[in-house]
This record gives sequence, C-alpha cells and structure tokens, in this order.
Amino acid sequence: MAMLNLRTESARKREAAQQVRLSLTLERPFVKQLRAEFARVAKAAAKEARTQHAVSDHMVEHRRRLASIFARHYRIVARAFITRVADAVSKSARIVGERKDDPRVPALSIEAAAVMADLWPKLGHIINRRAAQVAETTDDIIRRKVTVGLRDGATWADIARDVEDSGLNSLRAQTIAATEVHGATQAATNEAAGSLGLALNKQWVSVEDEHTRLDHVEANAQEVGFDGTFTIGGAPMAYPGDPSGPPEQVINCRCATVFNVQE
Ligand SMILES: [Zn+2]
Repeated sequence: MAMLNLRTESARKREAAQQVRLSLTLERPFVKQLRAEFARVAKAAAKEARTQHAVSDHMVEHRRRLASIFARHYRIVARAFITRVADAVSKSARIVGERKDDPRVPALSIEAAAVMADLWPKLGHIINRRAAQVAETTDDIIRRKVTVGLRDGATWADIARDVEDSGLNSLRAQTIAATEVHGATQAATNEAAGSLGLALNKQWVSVEDEHTRLDHVEANAQEVGFDGTFTIGGAPMAYPGDPSGPPEQVINCRCATVFNVQE
C-alpha cells in the first residue's frame, strides 16, 4: 500500500517522491491565485498612497481574501490526499505483512467524507491563523516601503509606484503555496491513516536533495507512535509541515509521512 508498512528505504523514498509530484500539481493554481491577490492588494495600497498619502485600508479585505483562497486550496489538497490513501487501502488486500488472511486485518476501508468532516475543523483553525500571518507580513512589507520611502525623501507618487511594482514578490506566493499545500497533504494523510483504527507508528521520510535542510536529512526514518511527536532539530512536530512547528522546520519542507502497523 502506498504508505503503510514500507520496509525498505527505497520504497519509502518512492512514496515520498509520489507525494511531492502530486503536491506540485496542486500548488500551481494556488500560486496563481496568491499572485493575483498580492498584485491586487499592492495596487489598492498604491492607490491609497497616491490619493490619501497613507496606507491603512487594505488589511481586512486582504486577510478575508487570503482566508478564502487558503480554504479553497486546503480543501482540494486534503480531498486529493485523503482519496489517495483511501484508494490505496481499498486496492490492497494485504495491508499488513504478507498474508491475506492476517487476523489482525479486517477488511480495511477509509470513508473519505467522514475523514474530511473530522479534519476540516482542524484545518479551519490553521487556515485562519496562517491567512492572518500572511496578511500581516504583506502589511509589514507595504509599511516598510512607505517608511523607507519617506525617510529617503521619495514622493508619495514614487512610493505608490514602488508598492505597486513590487507585486509583493511572486517568489513569496510560491513559497506560501508550497508550504501550505505540504502542510495540508500531511495533515490529510495522517487523518486518513488514523481513521483505519489500527495501532500504528508513523515514520518521517525526507526527500533528500541539495535543498533539504540538515535537520530533515537527520530526521529520515525517525519512527514514533501515531499519537507521539517527532523531534526535529530539537522541536516537537506531529508530522512534516506541522503548522505548530517552528517556521524554520516548516517552510518549503517536502518530507513525507508513512505508517507502520505496530507488531
Ligand atoms: Zn522536510
């Protein structure tokens, strides 16, 4: 099965690579909508700077739109990953060990809609918090441009152009989408696995290339009980991309979770 009882390192790496590929296709439309929203708020703030010589009115609307974009994509991503686990479970006659008649394994199935219903309130908290954080950073970026502009003797027209031209940085949209999609994939995978009702361990699998942070290379193959926490660079994390983990362990992470049935 796609993410259960992968005994070899190469099988785990293959699973992690599949998760990354699916995530990439889910990221693209998310990036597009974030870029559009950053361009919109930059334009709105530039207009304020030009006409009112202040930037103050853009935050509430920006946060509201971000929350709605996040919610749309979290839902799509969570569905895709829950369905992925559910399909894998339904296709597999021998989830545990090599024997079809293993008595520990009743016919396993995952009720995707029920998993989503349990997961969605948890994601709702994450979405609101993350949308507020991203909006606040946007606000900081805009205000810094104003402060620096005024300090350096720029006119309000110059400042407005600077704010508008920045589009608030399209790399930022990419980083945010990648990080949020990853968090949603791991939350969904864990929720789906948890719904199997088996005694499971979870295992951290690193995608290792030149971008992988050292803490995550070291975390590879770390295994803990399903309700336990990984220790990543000294910090407790429930899963890769856990939004309550420290940002330096979360941003742009591509690590995956797989599960082992307890012996
Ligand atoms: Zn990672």
